[in-house]
Amino acid sequence: MSLETPSYRGRIAPSPTGYLHLGHARTFWVAQQRVIEYGGILVLRNEDLDSARCKPEFVSAMIEDLHWFGFRWQEGPDCGGTFGPYTQSQRLELYRSRFELLRESGFIYPCTCSRQDVLRSVSAPHAADDEPIYPGTCRGKSLRDVPVGTKVSWRFRVPDGETISFLDGSRGVQSFWAGKDFGDFIVWRHDGIPSYQLAVVTDDDAMQITEVVRGMDLLLSTARQLLLYRALNVRSPKFFHCPLLHDESGKRLAKRHDALSLRALRIQGQTPESIRCSALFSG
Ligand code: GLU
Repeated sequence: MSLETPSYRGRIAPSPTGYLHLGHARTFWVAQQRVIEYGGILVLRNEDLDSARCKPEFVSAMIEDLHWFGFRWQEGPDCGGTFGPYTQSQRLELYRSRFELLRESGFIYPCTCSRQDVLRSVSAPHAADDEPIYPGTCRGKSLRDVPVGTKVSWRFRVPDGETISFLDGSRGVQSFWAGKDFGDFIVWRHDGIPSYQLAVVTDDDAMQITEVVRGMDLLLSTARQLLLYRALNVRSPKFFHCPLLHDESGKRLAKRHDALSLRALRIQGQTPESIRCSALFSG
């Protein structure tokens, strides 16, 4: 591996849980524009760890729709690259090795609580559905305290009271309070699946991503991820969080807004150019 600082490497990282919509396209477009501006590399990563929600047909649809819209990536599940595989479900060994490191160095503890956030931890917690602060029930536990046969997940112990700050390329300095704005979070689920937080940090580091461009509903997750980078003793990328698109009622655009999926817009006869020029797209 080269010791030189890598030149700009950006990524787009959709989860194939439905058809991509205008909100994705807009954030990904910013990511691609920044890659072009810096003469860098764009990576497409397939974030398919949520096996209950991700479907193979959405992976092919995602690649087709991204191509149609005008995205061009240099590394990805369809074209390979130096840091592949680019599909998260094929990278479980790497996540396990990072999990073991966190465990050996005492940053995480076993948790036997059967809470919703354990199950949901495999998907990115977008602002409206971010998890409640964990009350710390299992904080003092070690594996010795856990009866044989009990389901064990692993949580990251956040440094209560510490302010986690970073300079966001779009929004300026951002600060979050560990223990107050977010609590101990899952890194490894009892069924052997890493959380979104651990997988994304492992991949952005391993794929040498230099700047993460994504929606601002993930600002709080960036604070969590900065703690993981620090615990794993690796350099974090820079961050650039984009404003989100909302529907008429003020709700964040999500995959349930089928009418605004790229697929539906294409069927209606819209072209990528007309979409990119629309007022909704330019915000
Ligand atoms: N796969 C995540 C999502 O679609 C990506 C989050 C990220 O960019 O870190 O929400």
